[in-house]
Amino acid sequence: MLTEQELIHYSRHIILPQIDEAGQKKIKESKVLVIGMGGLGAPVAMYLAAAGVGHLYIADHDQVERSNLQRQIIHKLESIGLDKVDSAKATLKALNPWIEITSIPEKLEGQALDKQVSQVDLVVDCCDNFSTRFAVNRAAVKHHKPLISGAAIRFEGQLGVFNYHHSSPCYQCLYQPDIQLDENCFDQGVLSPVVGTIGSLQATETLKVITGAGNVADGKLLVYDALNLDFRKLKVTKDENCPVCSAKL
Ligand SMILES: [Zn+2]
Repeated sequence: MLTEQELIHYSRHIILPQIDEAGQKKIKESKVLVIGMGGLGAPVAMYLAAAGVGHLYIADHDQVERSNLQRQIIHKLESIGLDKVDSAKATLKALNPWIEITSIPEKLEGQALDKQVSQVDLVVDCCDNFSTRFAVNRAAVKHHKPLISGAAIRFEGQLGVFNYHHSSPCYQCLYQPDIQLDENCFDQGVLSPVVGTIGSLQATETLKVITGAGNVADGKLLVYDALNLDFRKLKVTKDENCPVCSAKL
């Protein structure tokens, strides 16, 4: 049940026929894992907290550095040196003290990643490297959890929803199994609000998956080119020989 205070707090959601009181209850009952409290994780966690996601699990093993603050808007000057999850939790609690937040101050991998993914309804990947993205995808496929994936670098971003249905493509379907990709914002740079655009879209798709509103970006990859204000939506097909998702069929 939603309390009287919650009915007021979330009234601009509840007035939307696609969300309604029933959708807001689903949001309240949901458990979401956000991996990475950096440029993407910041808007994702802030919007999901403000929107009333009942239990947020936030994972990051890093500490806040000065060069993060150009885009990681969940952290503040006084957070420099703190664990990102602690800095993030303080911001999220200030936004919405009624939700539960579990901080995971470690690099989630192996069994710990597996266990964590199994305990939530869906996973939002906001990390900054391919090996983590592939590992998170493997765990999401294993436990049949939708994965809302985002990435941003330079003036470019991308967003996709994977593992939505049994027949949906997974993140690995996008790439050859032996691909070696390792670009990151550290040496490539990124325009500050580009991570906000992609993170906001990840939070939107997350709330759509939870409430069932609209059509989620299942089997689609949105590619954003900020320099030319160009959004392209590409179809992602399930790779019949995908080493991750074809084995489960
Ligand atoms: Zn696959």
